[in-house]
Amino acid sequence: MSRKPIIAGNWKMNLLQSEAKELFEGIKSFVKDYTAPQLPTVVIAPTFTSLCAVSSVRCDCGCGGNKISVAAQNCHWENSGAYTGEISVEMAKDAGCDYIIIGHSERRQYFSETDEMINKKAKAILAGGLIPIICCGETLEQREAGITDEHIATQIRAALSGISSEDVAKSVIAYEPIWAIGTGKTCDSVEANRVIKMIRNVVKEVSGSEAADSIRILYGGSVKPSTIEEQMSQSDIDGALVGGASLKADSFNEIIANTMKVAV
Ligand code: PEP
Repeated sequence: MSRKPIIAGNWKMNLLQSEAKELFEGIKSFVKDYTAPQLPTVVIAPTFTSLCAVSSVRCDCGCGGNKISVAAQNCHWENSGAYTGEISVEMAKDAGCDYIIIGHSERRQYFSETDEMINKKAKAILAGGLIPIICCGETLEQREAGITDEHIATQIRAALSGISSEDVAKSVIAYEPIWAIGTGKTCDSVEANRVIKMIRNVVKEVSGSEAADSIRILYGGSVKPSTIEEQMSQSDIDGALVGGASLKADSFNEIIANTMKVAV
């Protein structure tokens, strides 16, 4: 089964609106030379304050905005109400998002997000017609203790609990070993592929073979232009969630270009 690769940039808490627009324009000017089918699915996740700024300049090439999709970095599971500081799925959609990243290790670590909260968010995102990018990953201590697979399987089972197979099939998972995020240390591609295969088996167990064959599972953790070709050459890695290297148009565009050398 061929799955369209995704290259997603997570800008985290960086860039003012004017800077975000400028970076977005730099990516847009690269993708304009390709047709949408030639490109991987390109997703950009700016801060909430820059969502409208980038959505408004999304695409003017007549592709209907297909070449670059926009993602929020988080959302709440409720539609509205007294949740100071949060945004709903509908608000993200209203600001131009097609995707929402949930369960990033930084949200789990600094904002105490639990597997149960991530499951509620995933359900709300799918009910709102958007696509969740569900992050999972182990700490260095968990890896050294030999419990990587067990930990990630628990995260995935919890995140997908009660979600229909059709909705799971459309979803995206990002495997991000925490020790590889922002550290410059990438997980060996063969090992990342092994963990991603294990995740696909968990999806198969929970949601069936069709969902397991369709769901796109990305690798994240210090992805760079020099690492992406090898990562994309693996059987089960369907793309990348990129942090640091997505903050410069040159490096992010090179990641897209190198992805096209291997897959799409
Ligand atoms: C991330 O935060 O999702 C990430 C993978 O960051 P980096 O690429 O900087 O490691």
